[in-house]
Amino acid sequence: MTSTEPLIAALRPGYQAELADGTDRFFHPRRTDCPWCGATRLRVRLRTTDLLQHKPGRFVLDQCQECAHVFQNPRLNDTGLAFYYRDFYDGLGEQRLAGLFGTRAAVYRGRARSVLPFAAAPGRWLDVGTGHGHFCGTARELFKDTEFDGLDLSAGVELGEREGRLAHGYRGSFPELAPELAGRYDVLSMFHYLEHSADPARELAAARQALRPGGLLLIEVPDPQSRYARLLGRWWLPWLQPQHLHLAPPANLRARLGELGFTVVLEQHREPHDPLDLLAAGWLALDALAPRENAPWLPGTPPGRLRRLLRTAVFLAGAPALLVAALLDRLLARGAGRFGFSNAYRVLARKEA
Ligand SMILES: [Zn+2]
Repeated sequence: MTSTEPLIAALRPGYQAELADGTDRFFHPRRTDCPWCGATRLRVRLRTTDLLQHKPGRFVLDQCQECAHVFQNPRLNDTGLAFYYRDFYDGLGEQRLAGLFGTRAAVYRGRARSVLPFAAAPGRWLDVGTGHGHFCGTARELFKDTEFDGLDLSAGVELGEREGRLAHGYRGSFPELAPELAGRYDVLSMFHYLEHSADPARELAAARQALRPGGLLLIEVPDPQSRYARLLGRWWLPWLQPQHLHLAPPANLRARLGELGFTVVLEQHREPHDPLDLLAAGWLALDALAPRENAPWLPGTPPGRLRRLLRTAVFLAGAPALLVAALLDRLLARGAGRFGFSNAYRVLARKEA
């Protein structure tokens, strides 16, 4: 018995009511053109399911044959997004993720450090998609005189302000809030944010608006052209369905930033690589083989003793493979950028006057 079981039981009726009419109502109609360039030559890149939460539903990623943009098609609508995000970063999923994000200080320092050669002492910094504001909490150690604000759709941003990591926490949609933030920021960061957005072009335009002339925009996103994406298929964690709606190849993002009046001053591949592709793929595969069956979006009774034993046995049997995968991730991390295995890229761009 785990301590989450009463919570799961309390949440089940709500989830079951939402699922009563199936999952089709969670999607926009399928589109026939590329949302990045408008071309109509599309092909299916990936068909998959929710491998992390195991909520019901099937998801398709299409790839544009002209510009190589990858996007969810059909795409989730607002009802669908609310359904699949619920209990992931907040609620039921919050404790689990808090432990994970708490240990990421080295990653946050690396991200912050990439700005140092271009702006040693920015006055105001806005982190968009800040979650609970943990990046800002760490970045303040490097930028002692900078005021860090955060923006997020979720209630985590209010927690970040209460706990002192954010000077100000804005809760809401960035494109909608951007006009009141116009020209306010010296640095604006988006770490693994754009891929979650329904309309990345609108987010980039909002970033341009919120920055002062000469201000810096720091973006980090998964790289759909990573060799791991091809090698691992649906088990590649950064596909993260159904949350990731758009995955733009580096050349596309560079070009769009140029059109918006930005100059790209830095592009990194090795540094933002998060070396967990093989370990995560192994874990997701084992988890799919013997899923944890007690969740409020799954029907009925909690799993019996046999089910739980099976899951334990599968993970025990898979443990050596997971260990080898983790070691390989570490060993291969150094060469990841050079050989095209890096799973993310980082771009720093200056807004021209
Ligand atoms: Zn395209």
